[in-house]
Amino acid sequence: MGDVQGVEDKDGKATPDQASVYLSARLHQEIRDLSALQWPEECCGLLIASQNTPNRIHRVVVARNVATDPLKTFEIDPQTLIDTYRTVRDSSETVVGCFHSHPNGNVLPSNSDRARADEDGFLWLIIATGHNGALKSGMYRAQQQTAQGDEDDESLRYFRRCKLIED
Ligand SMILES: [Zn+2]
Repeated sequence: MGDVQGVEDKDGKATPDQASVYLSARLHQEIRDLSALQWPEECCGLLIASQNTPNRIHRVVVARNVATDPLKTFEIDPQTLIDTYRTVRDSSETVVGCFHSHPNGNVLPSNSDRARADEDGFLWLIIATGHNGALKSGMYRAQQQTAQGDEDDESLRYFRRCKLIED
């Protein structure tokens, strides 16, 4: 079919539609502003949702990028990972994804992103950035299996593009 945009669902509650991801305009702007400020380095963090509505991101955790070369890649501060997973473990929340920026302005997942996307269903929000600020935003869901017909787009092989809906 080739249609990876999904169907827009206005209320976004308990929908089996995995292709739509909801993010408030305020949170989206917050992530984009942080990404722009961090340029030319990559910024990164985690996306948190309520367990009942895993496709609706309701808060984000900004992390320090502890990669050896933050100009080219990112590595979420392990202490932030530990703290965040500990916090959500006994709550009704869940870590549904991560975000990072691409200072080279490319909104597509990189080869190294694909190599690291080993958690099936995990969301990857990518903010393309340049010296003038944030450019495009792309939301992807890591997929362990490729759908038939996706072979022609090598860069999206293990990522399914999601429709990012601001609300
Ligand atoms: Zn990347």
